[in-house]
Amino acid sequence: MTRTSEVEVDCPGCGSRQTAPLCDAVGAEAEPHLREEILTGRINTFLCDACGYEGFLDGPLMYYDMNRQYCVQYLPEEVLEDPENLEGFTADGKWNVDLDLPAGGLADFLKEPHVVFDLDEMRRYIVFRELLHDRDAERPQNPTMR
Ligand SMILES: [Zn+2]
Repeated sequence: MTRTSEVEVDCPGCGSRQTAPLCDAVGAEAEPHLREEILTGRINTFLCDACGYEGFLDGPLMYYDMNRQYCVQYLPEEVLEDPENLEGFTADGKWNVDLDLPAGGLADFLKEPHVVFDLDEMRRYIVFRELLHDRDAERPQNPTMR
């Protein structure tokens, strides 16, 4: 489910037009190098071929971890400016993703991602969830609550 598309960008440094990869979904196990890029803040950055300008491509980014059973969705703040984008949210701020998944399946968590509006917050949330997972892995006698 990792998705990367090529987008056209005008370099803010020199104006030269080029294509750059923009990733909008990352699976923890499938794409460990992209997980690393999220954690180091390198995700969706581009380097201009012409002038060497380093830029950032802002777009929605979803990260999911099947093993640890969670999903976090980054949305650029601008997304909220379009009323249509608010339609998918409940009044208490939950995002109901319309996914056709088998009922009671292991991937149910994908339907209700933790939503953040900052990539730094996404990074911290991933670290947080991995710490919780490690904590519980060290206590195998306690059943995990799900
Ligand atoms: Zn440039």
